[in-house]
Amino acid sequence: MKTVYNFSAGPAVLPKPVLEKVQEEMLDYEGTGMSVMELSHRSGAFQEIIDGAEALLRGLLRIPDDFHVLFMQGGASLQFSMIPLNLLGPGQTADYIVTGSWSKKAVKEAEKVGEVRTHLPNSQHSIPQFSRDDFSKDARYVHITSNNTIEGTRFSGYPDTGEIPLIADMSSHILSEELDVSKFGLIYAGAQKNLGPSGVTVAIIRKDLVGRAPEHCPALLDYETYVKHGSLFNTPPTFAIYVLKLVLKWVKENGGLEGMEARNREKAELLYSAIDQSGLFHNPVSPENRSLMNIPFSVEKDEVNARFLKEAKEAGFEFLKGHRSVGGMRASIYNAMPLQGVKELVDFMKNFERELSEGGS
Ligand SMILES: *Cc1c(COP(=O)(O)O)cnc(C)c1O
Repeated sequence: MKTVYNFSAGPAVLPKPVLEKVQEEMLDYEGTGMSVMELSHRSGAFQEIIDGAEALLRGLLRIPDDFHVLFMQGGASLQFSMIPLNLLGPGQTADYIVTGSWSKKAVKEAEKVGEVRTHLPNSQHSIPQFSRDDFSKDARYVHITSNNTIEGTRFSGYPDTGEIPLIADMSSHILSEELDVSKFGLIYAGAQKNLGPSGVTVAIIRKDLVGRAPEHCPALLDYETYVKHGSLFNTPPTFAIYVLKLVLKWVKENGGLEGMEARNREKAELLYSAIDQSGLFHNPVSPENRSLMNIPFSVEKDEVNARFLKEAKEAGFEFLKGHRSVGGMRASIYNAMPLQGVKELVDFMKNFERELSEGGS
């Protein structure tokens, strides 16, 4: 089997030791004689898995005691709806900083529930600093997309929202770097980028933001339901939570957030400097807002982009095609992407550029 490096934006690369562990335990999970998929979600064995996942996440992110950790379904997209359904009443206002496609989708759902005030940066290639005075006095919350998966941007510093709860969609960079959870009211992330397989969504919510949903809110859309039942009101995505737990264990064994951040900075710097030094490839994002996780790059001519993608795929670099709204290429280099994968991609890019300038076919 040739080496394949998976640069997909999501579902994305998982740590190899995690996949090996899953394989090893597939037919007999810890002496139960069955796979995790076959275990009752009410069994002691599964309770240990979900408790273990929560404990690991709390340890890695140093989540303060006044926050709940919830495991849900419906992806980050369902959070776009749940957040306003729980926290925004009719006639109330929430502020949304719109830094890309995912922010826009979040706004669209919130507008169905209450008033939304949007803050639109001038360019999709940079994110300005915001301060308390920028936001509506009576805002119920401020929502940001802290890492923009499609545009390849991130906040260089989080806005000070004062007493207003700050809510962040961290789907594409949670656990990629150190984080002060106490600055937020709610953090959420679909697992399939940096946490595990698709199917489970993690929310870290400050306790005072739970229990605010209106009477008519469906049980599964009310954060309080998940709190009251330990995320086991109905059947959760058991296998996804199991793999998530293994990923969290892998993060811990590899230096925690400090270790992840150091590796991620090294990988991103390697790729950005190769792009910046190249006379062919280009990344449009202003340096202070460049994502450590999702790195778009392109060449001027469409046919050269297409040729690059074709040759890269043949060489084992998979899913490098940029999002259809941006074009070109995008390398998603989440926690589980090894440094070696980025090194080999950079070498491949250099060779491609050299051959192109030599007029090779
Ligand atoms: C992928 C992504 C989403 C959508 O996630 P789903 O789990 O598919 O709903 C939302 N926000 C961001 C920042 C993403 O990267």
